[in-house]
Order: sequence, then C-alpha cells, then structure tokens
Amino acid sequence: MAKNCDVCGKKLKLFKSVNVTDGKVCYDCMKQIGIDYLKLPMSLTIEDTLTISEVKDFQTKKQIINVHQRWEDYKNNKMQNKIAEQRNRIAKQDKYEQLKANIKADKPVKKGKVYLDFAKKQIFIDKNLLEDYHLYNFSDFTSYKTIENPTTINKNHSLSHSVIGGLVAGPTGAVIGAFAGNKSYDAVSKMAIILYFKDNNYKQLNYISTATKIDTINYRTEQENMQRFCAHLDKILAYNTTDVSDTLSAPVNTDQLRNLKGLLDDGVITQADFDAKKKQILGL
Ligand SMILES: [Zn+2]
Repeated sequence: MAKNCDVCGKKLKLFKSVNVTDGKVCYDCMKQIGIDYLKLPMSLTIEDTLTISEVKDFQTKKQIINVHQRWEDYKNNKMQNKIAEQRNRIAKQDKYEQLKANIKADKPVKKGKVYLDFAKKQIFIDKNLLEDYHLYNFSDFTSYKTIENPTTINKNHSLSHSVIGGLVAGPTGAVIGAFAGNKSYDAVSKMAIILYFKDNNYKQLNYISTATKIDTINYRTEQENMQRFCAHLDKILAYNTTDVSDTLSAPVNTDQLRNLKGLLDDGVITQADFDAKKKQILGL
C-alpha cells in the first residue's frame, strides 16, 4: 500500500520516507533541503519540527536547513513551554491554597466541599477530581431546595410491632404489613440539599444516600444537620435581599467595598490603602 510523497508526489519507497507533522515526505525531498537521513543520528527527529509546506518552501527558495540549530531551537522551545506550563500550574495551585486558607481562617460553616464564609460573604466550593473549585459571592447564590426521597424497607418479622403504625407520618403515607409477617418501615433513600448559583452551576450536598429508616437516630441527626445548614442558607438569602435594598436606599457601593476587602485579603493592597479607600466610598 504505497503512498506518495506529499511534497514531490512520487511513490514512497519502503523505509525511505519520514513523517513530518502533517504528512509523509520522501528521503530525496528531505535531502534537497539539507537533511540526509543516512547521516542523521536516530535521536534527532528533525521531521517533528517540519510541515509539508515548510519543506516545499525551503525547496522553492533552494534553502538548506541548519539541522542542528533547528533541533536546538526546537528543544529549547519545548523546554521553555514546559517550564512555563509548570510555573502556571504552581501559581494556580498557590492561589488555590491561599484562597482556601483565607476561607478556612474565617471558620466557615462547612458541609462536604461547601464552605459558607460569613466574614467574607463568600461561598467556596472545593475542587474534586472532576471539577475545579468555585468561589462565589453571597449575591451569586440564588436559591436552594431540599430533597427527601421516600422509600420503604421490608423485613421479615415474626413478632407484630404495633408501634410501627403509630410512627409513620408524612404525605407518602404508610405502607404497612402488606403481607402477613412482613413489616414495612418508612425510610428515605436520599436526603440532600441542592444549591443554585447565578452562573447556572449547582451543587448537591448529600445527608443521606442509602436507605435509612426515619425512626432512627441517624435519620434525625442528619435531618437536624440539614435543617441547620438550611438556616445558614436562609441567612445568606436574607443578606442578599437586604443588600439590594441597601444599595437602593443609600449611595454606598457594597460591591466596591467587598472587592476592596478582597484585594486587602489577597495582599494586593495594604490596610492603609483599604482604610483610605473605604472612607472615600462611605463618604466619611
Ligand atoms: Zn518527495
């Protein structure tokens, strides 16, 4: 299955062609631009640095490639890119760690990877394997909803438990004792909060993710935890509405102040800078 040289069009001979970045070129064409594969060391894959149009261009201009110079440049370039990439990665990691440390220093309300920072009025969602971290202002948080998926747990029981009928409640109703000797327990298969943000991102926080009977300490504890977290979320939503009316009734730019505080926290400006600017914004 012979192919043709992408430069001269001649049929390629076995082991007498190389792969440039975007095609195949015969040894003869390469030799015309100063690359002699019979003399070139194997480690020097100069063809990796070339394109078909470059080879054609060199041929037209009757130019010879300075193989070793080109190879050095190529390697240096590659290394520099690698170093730059590495630097970017380190800088990004530093920024993330600093940010997380700053959030943690405020002793935020935490559930899973979600941190509610009432000092900075920010919500930090830590990164996971699939997703980078997110940092939101309280004003980016729009709403939340809770999920409680009902289910039933069936167990064989020889004794009759009259208490079961008394314990079940809720809109799902009780499915009890459908079969003789079988008892059904009201349970939830999932209990979670979903937080919604302005950028259409959302985050689910699971409190229960395996079928759990509702008459257990585990269920009640998780329910309390969830309700406590919801109370914090309500507080944030209340802040947001207050902030809106603040900006309507007073000329104070809270966003500006918040940004300023962020700059101070990030060490971009000094405390003195912050104080001066704050006075200016507040009109003091
Ligand atoms: Zn050729």
